[in-house]
Amino acid sequence: GRGFRPEGTRITFPNGVVVGGEEVVVMSGPCSVESRDQIRLSAKQVAAAGCQFLRGGAYKPRSSPYSFQGMGLEGLKIMREAADEYGLLVITEVMEISQIEPMLEYIDCFQVGARNMQNFNLLRELGNVRKPVLMKRGIAATIEEVLLSAEYILSGGNYDLMLCERGIRTFETYTRNTYDISAIPVLKKLTHLPVLGDPSHGVGKREFVPAMALASVAAGADGLLMEMHPNPDKAMSDGAQSLFPEQLNQLMAKLHQLAPVV
Ligand code: PEP
Ligand code: MN
Repeated sequence: GRGFRPEGTRITFPNGVVVGGEEVVVMSGPCSVESRDQIRLSAKQVAAAGCQFLRGGAYKPRSSPYSFQGMGLEGLKIMREAADEYGLLVITEVMEISQIEPMLEYIDCFQVGARNMQNFNLLRELGNVRKPVLMKRGIAATIEEVLLSAEYILSGGNYDLMLCERGIRTFETYTRNTYDISAIPVLKKLTHLPVLGDPSHGVGKREFVPAMALASVAAGADGLLMEMHPNPDKAMSDGAQSLFPEQLNQLMAKLHQLAPVV
């Protein structure tokens, strides 16, 4: 709980970027790393918009086994190259224990996906590494379950943990999920951890992403994770919820009016 660190956990990354400080941190990029050109152009656009992290999945948890499963290690390598070229940090999803070790050299932050929030063996292993972790809320996880999953990582001694609201499944189907903005202040109250919002997976339609991004920051989010693709109509995953580069630029300008952004 908050009592452990009343001032809140601050995570400092290699280039000096702090998550959990005074400023909002923005992580953006495509859902999947698709090619060297795609991730390089994404990095350029993400950096130009003023974000700090490049996101992109190399190991993808796809609902269908016949969908694109990600580029794997090769994807991590080209993502690292692209991020370094534009001075960005790398956050990407880890799906299983065997991926942890090979990923360490290419990434700055592990992302635990919603589908793995209760993969307790994976969480326990991530508690043993000394690299920050962003853990997403499970698709049908209660706040209590989020807290208990976080404990699996913290109890191993890895305190560089961020939580992320990404929408939960409800009876509503107009949006992909129901983006639970209230989870942000609730998790801020119950934990000392930085809390981020992922409005992209939260709503699933790009036209609603900017409003929910702004609402997340108004609700106290320490940062945002949002999908952006150089050409969303050609994206191999989650194109409908990926912002156009110009939309990300406009949103960043609005965010700066609302709160200090790194
Ligand atoms: C993602 O970030 O692309 C992703 C798969 O997210 P989630 O785990 O929230 O579905
Ligand atoms: Mn996605």
